[in-house]
Amino acid sequence: MSYRIPFNRPCLAGNEYRYIAEAIANGHASGDGPFTRKCHELLERELGVPRVLLTTSCTHALEMAALLLDCGPEDEVIVPSFTFVSTANAFALRGARLVFADVRPDTLNLDESRLEALITLRTKAIVVVHYAGVSCEMDSILAIASRHGVRVVEDNAHGLFARYRGEYTGTFGCLSTQSFHETKNFTCGEGGALVVNDAELLERALVIREKGTNRSRFFRGEVDRYTWVDLGSSYLPSDLLAAFLYAQLEARETIQEKRRRVWNRYYESLADWAESNDVKLPLIPPECEQANHMFYMLLPSFEHRDSLISQLKAQSILSVFHYTPLHLSEAGLKFAAGPSNCPVTEEVSERLLRLPFYNDLSENEQDQVTAAVTNSRFRSLSRQAS
Ligand SMILES: *Cc1c(COP(=O)(O)O)cnc(C)c1O
Repeated sequence: MSYRIPFNRPCLAGNEYRYIAEAIANGHASGDGPFTRKCHELLERELGVPRVLLTTSCTHALEMAALLLDCGPEDEVIVPSFTFVSTANAFALRGARLVFADVRPDTLNLDESRLEALITLRTKAIVVVHYAGVSCEMDSILAIASRHGVRVVEDNAHGLFARYRGEYTGTFGCLSTQSFHETKNFTCGEGGALVVNDAELLERALVIREKGTNRSRFFRGEVDRYTWVDLGSSYLPSDLLAAFLYAQLEARETIQEKRRRVWNRYYESLADWAESNDVKLPLIPPECEQANHMFYMLLPSFEHRDSLISQLKAQSILSVFHYTPLHLSEAGLKFAAGPSNCPVTEEVSERLLRLPFYNDLSENEQDQVTAAVTNSRFRSLSRQAS
């Protein structure tokens, strides 16, 4: 079914076709060609990090992180229950047991006040997700992690160019991962990146990304042939995809500005309605500069959420919910280290609604969405305490 106002519409920045044509003409369609290098350089310079490696997806970057940290059956990895499957699956693939953390009711980020209680002698890593591109409380999380000698990985799929106390998200953990999937702020259809903040992990990251070979040492002239040296897989995207992505990254300021405008306009036009209807709009803590990845609202109850989705659908506007709790999922139950206690996740996942959000959402389209929301009716529904 197609909607008058879809939830997401992939938007071009302008130079995509030109760069892809150039990449084809370059005769280097495989990975690590000229456009991959341009993306690496741009991201390393902009984020001020030692190394960025493009990957075929954020999922694959997370799998690389699990390999790099040697997560195995003896280890526990703490992940939020309120996240996309890949945050957890990448570590379960290595046999690690998952410990599901609950989220804060205000930012929907991992609740740092309940983190330390989840750490055991087996804890190998804490994976944080900067939900909606709003940073987690990194000072507390990093302090807890270092007190227990546990590594921190940031799943920064929503948060490229967001900041926490002036520093970019994705630069705090030893590793972080980015997504360039069609639904994210910057895209090449399917793609991702591993950000290597701990330079000691770099050499092995290169091996893992090159199918477990020391091919990059061979290219640097350090060995006279390359061979199988470790576990790995095929995590390099084609340079054609990097060409697409470079066009988007180059336009990062324009793209982020468009998204900022859409986000602010939603906030301003819905604030009064939200206030008088017991609806919560996103909280951006003062120390956070968000990435404007999405606009969500927390409705008073599951029934309100369901009813609003149908009312918008009746006007051909697609709004969606987000994340069913991982700790209650079939695989989550199977791969958990023990029983989970995530009441906030369970509660917010029933009430959360995301509105159409994309770079080229016009003011006119946006007005139609906000009018449909503010004119919605919930007469027969009683409110749950929230
Ligand atoms: C989108 C997303 C992913 C997966 O990204 P892919 O690039 O599609 O693999 C992982 N984690 C979070 C939080 C995401 O939103």
